[in-house]
Amino acid sequence: MNILVTGGAGYIGSHVVRELIGTKNNVVVFDNLQKGHRDAIKGVTFVEGDLNNKELLDKTMKKYDIDSVIHLAADSLVGESMENPSKYYTNNVCSGLNLLNSMVENNVKYIVFSSTAAVYGEPKSIPITEDNETKPTNVYGETKLMFESILKRYDEAYGIKYMSLRYFNAAGAHISGEIGEDHNPETHLIPIIMQVALGQREKIFIFGDDYDTKDGTCIRDYIHVTDLANAHILALEALESENKSNIYNLGNGEGFSVREVIDMVEKVTGKSITREVSGRRPGDPAVLIASSEKIIKELGWKPRFDSLEKIIETAWKWHSNNPKGYDE
Ligand code: UDP
Repeated sequence: MNILVTGGAGYIGSHVVRELIGTKNNVVVFDNLQKGHRDAIKGVTFVEGDLNNKELLDKTMKKYDIDSVIHLAADSLVGESMENPSKYYTNNVCSGLNLLNSMVENNVKYIVFSSTAAVYGEPKSIPITEDNETKPTNVYGETKLMFESILKRYDEAYGIKYMSLRYFNAAGAHISGEIGEDHNPETHLIPIIMQVALGQREKIFIFGDDYDTKDGTCIRDYIHVTDLANAHILALEALESENKSNIYNLGNGEGFSVREVIDMVEKVTGKSITREVSGRRPGDPAVLIASSEKIIKELGWKPRFDSLEKIIETAWKWHSNNPKGYDE
């Protein structure tokens, strides 16, 4: 199989590519390098391009005789999506449509899509199962849900089969310490705490401690990026063998508050982390915890890094060995 990975040079994408290397598949990464890093995908076939460039997409599909797509290229920040919705509708929906149209025109039948827990909004019950109501509280989640609706219609009309993977909070780094999380600016909780541990930042701001949770801070379900990556391969294999679309949650099934995550970083790194409570971040739901029973049962997915401690240990290995990230 020839697989096109959009956003393959990004944080999650590069870990997906790492897991694909060594399988029977050929991998082609398509990335505009706005957030991705060339060094994260050393030795992999690479096309530098943006999904808004339909011509380049068509050319790439043909040149590499693409059979399947793993689509991760997107903007993914809750806060930014509320301040600049135009960017999110344009990049996540319009540019994504170019990809789907190119797939239709080039007879590419399978797509694994990186969706998000943000499609659920404030969930009706915890842990969240795939049949929970979808009612996003932020623009980011809304764009991902819109794309899921488009996928459903493209399946009905054009026979494109999809797997939508609704990620909870991707975290950690490859066990080798060779690839990991490097955003600029960094907005995610764990890498920001790492920056405090490394002395690159004075303190971490806790976005709200007046939520209806055990310690008042938001609760999230952190899933190791390699476990997440492996789910993409299982999803692709299932598409090829069963030719059937599906939607799966991906999380660890356990929630940790912002304070608990900070405490765990202190434990793993041995550094003390200065913290200060600031206001809530718009669009943040109080609690997001996944039920991943469906993917465990149906696809045999099995997380290896099943504790927050293990996840943070791998993150610390990456950040402490690469304090400036990929340093391009
Ligand atoms: N968070 C925080 N301070 C920060 C960054 C994040 O308190 O500097 C909180 C955020 O409000 C959320 C959790 O940490 O409840 C995880 O946020 P992140 O941005 O890592 O992921 P998201 O949940 O938005 O996908």
